[in-house]
Amino acid sequence: MLKNKSVPVGNLLVAWCLGFFLFGTPANVHAKLHIVSTTTDLAAIAEEVGRNLVEVNFICRGYQDPHYVDPKPSFMRLMNQADLLLYHGLDLEGTWLPQIIEGSRNRKVRFGQMGNLDMSLGIDPILEIPQGIVDRSMGDIHPFGNPHYSMDPVNGMTLADSMAERLSILDPDNEKTYHANAEDFKSRVASKLKEWHEKLHDFEGTRIVTYHRSWSYFFHRFGLKYLGNIEIRPGILPSPRHLAELAVEMKRRKSDLILNANYYPPKWAELLAKKSGGRVAVLPVHIKGEPQVNTYIELIDYLVDQIAEKLSGSAGK
Ligand SMILES: [Zn+2]
Repeated sequence: MLKNKSVPVGNLLVAWCLGFFLFGTPANVHAKLHIVSTTTDLAAIAEEVGRNLVEVNFICRGYQDPHYVDPKPSFMRLMNQADLLLYHGLDLEGTWLPQIIEGSRNRKVRFGQMGNLDMSLGIDPILEIPQGIVDRSMGDIHPFGNPHYSMDPVNGMTLADSMAERLSILDPDNEKTYHANAEDFKSRVASKLKEWHEKLHDFEGTRIVTYHRSWSYFFHRFGLKYLGNIEIRPGILPSPRHLAELAVEMKRRKSDLILNANYYPPKWAELLAKKSGGRVAVLPVHIKGEPQVNTYIELIDYLVDQIAEKLSGSAGK
């Protein structure tokens, strides 16, 4: 029961301090914006753009498959605290993100709100938009085009701009800082771009087999080509006949490199290598997919170096 009685001044001071800690911060201390991204790639770029003004968390670890994530309650609790959700869109997270948003009970990150940013909206062109009927019931997982656009460093720069724009709307006091941070990130990526092109220049036109079409934007940027994919279509497992046909084609075109993203089981790639005489390279496709890959530039550096090394001596054009 509440009692109305006089309170000593010392107690009032304690109560004021307690209230201060519980309910507010002084106007000159900036409360960090909480960003939750679906992947480590978006998280790393958000760190670059937001720096000390933001706190960034991600859902899918760099060595996990972002097409399939278990929408755990811990992710809903994380999302409950978010001011901004960043995701790839194009249905990459279509099987799990809506459940996390719903379970978070956070209005700010619902579709259509300012705290919900589909990063694909700034990407041009979107590659591999299906022309025919896409049958998701059969497991087809790229119904609106290829969502793996962050593997093209030019798209990485676009992502930084889109984030700076949205952060400036959510936190207009720091608009200049967000844009300056994005410019700084972009200039560092741009200065590496020439080096990356030079390292892969000799391999332009080389045909490579990959498990999934994770590499389309990377190949598009650096002039590499698919010979084929181990999956029949994105998300659809290979048949023995498909692998046999692919092996024949690899021999015919003298294409011997098979890239397997490190979250896909290597068994089909190994089987194909055996049939075709090719070799398998297991590589990360997201930041933190390997311990030494912790920033966006480190990811592209790593992929360029690895692919250039694997293709040295390869005749697969
Ligand atoms: Zn995919």
